[in-house]
Amino acid sequence: MEYYSEQISKLIEELGHLPGIGTKSAQRLAFHLINLPMEQVEHLTQTITEARRNVRYCKDCFTLTDREICPICSSEKRSHKTIMVVENPRDLAAYEKTGQYKGVYHVLHGAISPLLGIGPNDIKLKELLVRLQGEVDEVIIATNSSLEGETTAMYISKLIKPTGIRVTRIASGVPVGGDLEYIDEITLLRALEGRTEL
Ligand code: ZN
Repeated sequence: MEYYSEQISKLIEELGHLPGIGTKSAQRLAFHLINLPMEQVEHLTQTITEARRNVRYCKDCFTLTDREICPICSSEKRSHKTIMVVENPRDLAAYEKTGQYKGVYHVLHGAISPLLGIGPNDIKLKELLVRLQGEVDEVIIATNSSLEGETTAMYISKLIKPTGIRVTRIASGVPVGGDLEYIDEITLLRALEGRTEL
């Protein structure tokens, strides 16, 4: 990195810490930013700072939002008696894009992974159980069909079963190991419609 001035090297290094950005991409981004008009750079940094400052977890479903309660949870058009459990806000967005799901969500922010040392207490599971004390008819488990996603689904279903609340799992059709966020909307809808009892 000694070919560049210290400040450019520092910028490349910082950008390289972002997920999915290798050294080459970091260099390309750095040169792009350096060549942008000053006001565009200021707008970008301001947007990042404001998002970081204001975005937080919804108090009900734990998705990312800039309000105390997210627009989905505060909507009266959604059924609050059906809760779909997803691993992260990107999966929630994937289901929202279908425009067909009328219930609400619960975002776990991860999945149980004994291999990575992630246990039930490391994701938003306790918070889900608290919500189930309200009026809930069905919990749809829409974790990924990876080993971690399946482990989490089984764990949750065992927890919920004794409460008598209906627990379902989205159907396969979602490829094994597949991340929900990369799956097309029709496949997602089929998976939801074909959900099975756990
Ligand atoms: Zn919410």
